[in-house]
Amino acid sequence: MVAGPGGVNICNECTQSIAGMLKEAGSFDDVDINDIDTEETAVSEGIQARVTSDQPKAKTPSSKPKKLPKPKEIYSFLEDYIIGQDKAKKVVSVAVYNHFKRIWMDKPKGDNTELQKSNVLLMGPTGTGKTLFAQTLARLLDVPFAIADATTLTEAGYVGEDVESTLFRLLQVADFDVEKAQSGIVYIDEIDKISRKSENPSITRDVSGEGVQQALLKMLEGTIVNVPVKGGRKNPNMETIPLDTSNILFITGGAFHGLEPIIEARLNQRSIGFKHDESDGEVAQKNIFQYIQHEDLFKFGIIPELIGRLPIIAPLNELKEEDLVHILTKPKNAITKQYKTLFKMDGIEITFEPEALKTIARIANLRKVGARALRGIFEELMLDHMFDAPHSKTKSLTISKKTVDSYAKRSLSNALYAKLNTK
Ligand code: ADP
Repeated sequence: MVAGPGGVNICNECTQSIAGMLKEAGSFDDVDINDIDTEETAVSEGIQARVTSDQPKAKTPSSKPKKLPKPKEIYSFLEDYIIGQDKAKKVVSVAVYNHFKRIWMDKPKGDNTELQKSNVLLMGPTGTGKTLFAQTLARLLDVPFAIADATTLTEAGYVGEDVESTLFRLLQVADFDVEKAQSGIVYIDEIDKISRKSENPSITRDVSGEGVQQALLKMLEGTIVNVPVKGGRKNPNMETIPLDTSNILFITGGAFHGLEPIIEARLNQRSIGFKHDESDGEVAQKNIFQYIQHEDLFKFGIIPELIGRLPIIAPLNELKEEDLVHILTKPKNAITKQYKTLFKMDGIEITFEPEALKTIARIANLRKVGARALRGIFEELMLDHMFDAPHSKTKSLTISKKTVDSYAKRSLSNALYAKLNTK
């Protein structure tokens, strides 16, 4: 008998006859029935091997896209969904092209150069589009995509999640199709929160900081990871699925609060003896992450080995008011477009006055969580209209600056409301 996940068992004869049926039906052209050595697996090898035989040696349909998009095509796809962040778009387009070129394209004949993996680090304040980047890429490439939060991870053996749990989510998204999962994208958010807790080795173990960084190293670089079938914390008796991470693209992201002074200090040190240019200083202040160097990350508390595995850094800028207005109106799934459709379904034409949108953007800016605030503001602002619209006979509705103003008065503190109007 061969045991599978979920307590299901199947005998060796049935396995062979099913494989035969699948072969006849053409689903698994490459299945060689003799490859499935169930008896041997079931008897002599451990649970892990049994699970491997559940994933037959047959090749599942490849997740290779029909055509590998080139950097400019990736860039223009990203433009449909992401506003601003031009530098990050360029960096990511090239990185993703190289990554998938490495796994899906043949090298020139006789060329044995080893192409290294190029995982990406997105740096920027919250709500500037880091997660959106990873999501949009997964949509373009039509590969499985999973998001993990680095703050929940701890070193093996401690309370929290193992780093392998990130891959379990990827497997789930890929419907446990191992091959598909192996060419997926994993976004690890809040990578900055696992920075080393102190510069000096401490007597207490840093299980959620440096410990996690160490645990991530192999996975990011490319190795066979045994992912627990049921997710969660690993234990020795648990069934696992081996997953090769060499072709998984890891995109990591973080806000890196506290890194600014480190970059600034380095930049100022270098400019000693040169005439200080005021306007330069201002640029450095605003888009300081543009000047990031790997050494700054080390000072911040990221271990050099991890920095080495995240060779591509894409800085994201804080979004300006006009960017936020564009976010509301331009992307294919822009919030205003979504509301227009929702109201149209009730037979109502809704219009947003440009000044109203500007005020919404200003409120979002005051909340200091970037574009993340926009959705919430809209939900609150539109609640009464959404409640009444299905019952009303009106055929049109305009959201004016006055409507937004009165919402702002209700929802903002006096101090913030005063700021809104002094700008
Ligand atoms: P974070 O940088 O914190 O990961 P997210 O990518 O989760 O931010 O952004 C939150 C939401 O804000 C997204 O779902 C998206 O709707 C919107 N958003 C953020 N940045 C952008 C951007 N540059 N262009 C378009 N929408 C954006």
